[in-house]
Amino acid sequence: MRDFFRLLGRLTLVALAFVTTFAAFWFGVVPQRLSPFSPLTLDQPAQWFVDPKLAALRRDPVLCQAVLKSPHVFATAIPDIPRENGCGLRNAVRVGAFGGARLPADKMTCELAAALALWVEYEVQPVAQELLGQRVQSISQMGTYSCRNIVGNAFWKGVRSQHATANAIDISGFTLADGRQISVLKGWPGTSAEARFLREIHKRACHYFRVSLGPDFNASHKDHFHFDRGPLWTCK
Ligand SMILES: [Zn+2]
Repeated sequence: MRDFFRLLGRLTLVALAFVTTFAAFWFGVVPQRLSPFSPLTLDQPAQWFVDPKLAALRRDPVLCQAVLKSPHVFATAIPDIPRENGCGLRNAVRVGAFGGARLPADKMTCELAAALALWVEYEVQPVAQELLGQRVQSISQMGTYSCRNIVGNAFWKGVRSQHATANAIDISGFTLADGRQISVLKGWPGTSAEARFLREIHKRACHYFRVSLGPDFNASHKDHFHFDRGPLWTCK
């Protein structure tokens, strides 16, 4: 019996060590110099361990500046806003374009910007070319930074949204090279090429954003995709 408890104790310690290590990478607290993963690069489409590599940018402005390079993304560092009442900015940037598509935003975290850069360049643009025969020229967004709680979900009522730290973006539409506009609201329903484009790029976003919500999630998201790099994991 004593052996059993000794084994149980050891197994618990191993499990605890595993969970702690996972959490350290998940929350981006492992400095790049101690990480077994190579730093994120925007030069490569498919990378192993892209999630912890993105998370490593969270607390590292120097690494952020090294990663967010043109022509993949046009980004400028902006000053931090100290956290107060669940809202604030840390290691954030102002952005103008991603993967050849205009997408201006005043404030977003470095981690979010890097995820967007990979998604636009290596998913949105190739899928647009394949299904619509042309590239995306610009992307419309409905907001990044907003000091507010999660809306439209009773379970998370009273909890700060990832928008409160500029770690989320709401994307509402796409303008193609020929000027054609595709909105999430009108384009999502049905089986047209536009609908297939929207559904495919939304599905592929799950690879880069931990939370990726669209019109199928709930009525609050009927007109936009919500992407964030927070601690939760949902793809719908
Ligand atoms: Zn949102």
